[in-house]
Amino acid sequence: MNFCSDCGEKVTLRIPDGDNVPRHVCDACGAIHYLNPKMVVGCIPEWDDQILLCRRAIEPRYGLWTLPAGFMENGETAAQGAARETLEEAGARVQIDQLYTFLNLPYINQIYVMFRGRLLDLDYAAGTESLEVMMFSEAEIPWKELAFRTIKITLENYFADRKNGSFDFHMGDVLPPNR
Ligand SMILES: [Zn+2]
Repeated sequence: MNFCSDCGEKVTLRIPDGDNVPRHVCDACGAIHYLNPKMVVGCIPEWDDQILLCRRAIEPRYGLWTLPAGFMENGETAAQGAARETLEEAGARVQIDQLYTFLNLPYINQIYVMFRGRLLDLDYAAGTESLEVMMFSEAEIPWKELAFRTIKITLENYFADRKNGSFDFHMGDVLPPNR
């Protein structure tokens, strides 16, 4: 951030009085602009023993497969955001069910919140952010072509739980990838 979103003057990065973290501070109007993690919300759209995946039509990870998910908007609940993203990316209507995975990604300041979702019908179609949308059984999951580790972790938990006959909530931390 270079300029104050309240008054338009230049901001400086410094530790405000009584704080211990550098912030973007506006000396003109006194505003302190805090940066906080962003929440990504999505779901596992289920239909019998299949789930729906989208192939990304946008960067990053163009052409790879993902669960419908995206940044939560102001004014909506996490479940509403997950249903909205599923409609936008896959043209699919879901009943959002269980909160399923909560993944912290502190190295990129994101939190992934994934629900289980029940598809209301099979009337889906790729949205503008997807190249194609398809249903997959466990054996058909393109494990080597998944877009994000958060999606891989969520799906690994999902199929392991399904095998065990019990879906448990999973919380975890995702560390920076090895480069
Ligand atoms: Zn200002």
